[in-house]
Amino acid sequence: MQAVQFSEHGDTDVIEYDDFPDPEPDDDEVLVDVKAGALNHLDVFTRMGLGALGRLDVEMPHIPGSDAAGVVAEVGEDVARFEPGDHVAVSAGLSCGHCEFCRDGEPTLCENFQIIGEHVRGVHSEQTVVPAENLVPVPEHVDWEIAAASPLVFQTAWRMLVTRADLQPGESILVLGASGGVGHAAVQIADYVGAEVYATASTEEKLEYAAEVGADHTINYDAENFADAIADVTDERGVDVVVDHIGKATWQDSLDSLAKGGRIVTCGATTGRDPETDLNAIFWNQYEIHGSTMGTPGEVDDVLELVWKGEFEPRIRETLPMSETARAHEIISNREGFGKVVVVPDSEL
Ligand code: ZN
Repeated sequence: MQAVQFSEHGDTDVIEYDDFPDPEPDDDEVLVDVKAGALNHLDVFTRMGLGALGRLDVEMPHIPGSDAAGVVAEVGEDVARFEPGDHVAVSAGLSCGHCEFCRDGEPTLCENFQIIGEHVRGVHSEQTVVPAENLVPVPEHVDWEIAAASPLVFQTAWRMLVTRADLQPGESILVLGASGGVGHAAVQIADYVGAEVYATASTEEKLEYAAEVGADHTINYDAENFADAIADVTDERGVDVVVDHIGKATWQDSLDSLAKGGRIVTCGATTGRDPETDLNAIFWNQYEIHGSTMGTPGEVDDVLELVWKGEFEPRIRETLPMSETARAHEIISNREGFGKVVVVPDSEL
């Protein structure tokens, strides 16, 4: 089969689309004919060899990709939930199932938590093999691009807002980077919950999209400091919740945007992991800081149910053949456009 792959970490020129041995499912695994995959910022870090807590050590050549959707081709002996012909999407979180945190029903806190596409072989290839428990059923009316682009960002945003920040109707929330995958999912979920949604992006066009998917107020962070803007529009009060996946470049302004007792929730740090933090502001104002990573199977089911029903919809900014995955990485790194970048096996085009 053909697969996106790289044999060393580095710039986009390490990415190839080439032959790779056909995968075969183990007893608890499913072989999927991939119809579409979607990129995440994670893929850029994985290509560079940067894991959340240090250098990645993956088996080479590595197939990247944490999001994909397709048709079940073959199931392992122990798999009862799926059969050939079923439409499925990949949910990329891997938990051990037996550590203290898994036993407490917190699989995303697993001591051995791994992500398909980051720590183990990913799914951007003509065929892929994944554990049955990492597949979710997709109704047949759902487009492949939508099915591929939804799982990672919507489960991540759902856990951040609904589970970790416990966002309530009528509360105010600021979503940074609303044009990115997680950002545009967070805007939709916040709107669905019934919150007052403030969103930032870098161009007027992106802000229009943010408003279309549910932002009540938009702030162009290139034109003005967003913490000052939040102070202005909230009469110095600030917002109840801030969603920050930007990191170093925005962290202190995010804290400065919070109301007394406010919550900040982070799932990533694309501009750097080591911001300065004013601890006095945290204790005096009694802020809560929540980390969040992906979602539990229950959260995945809850949010994807709403995607399949059309309540939420990932915006597809561009669809490319898998052989142009390097270009997909550039689009994400350069923050071009709004929403998700999808890749399709060249043989499917
Ligand atoms: Zn575990």
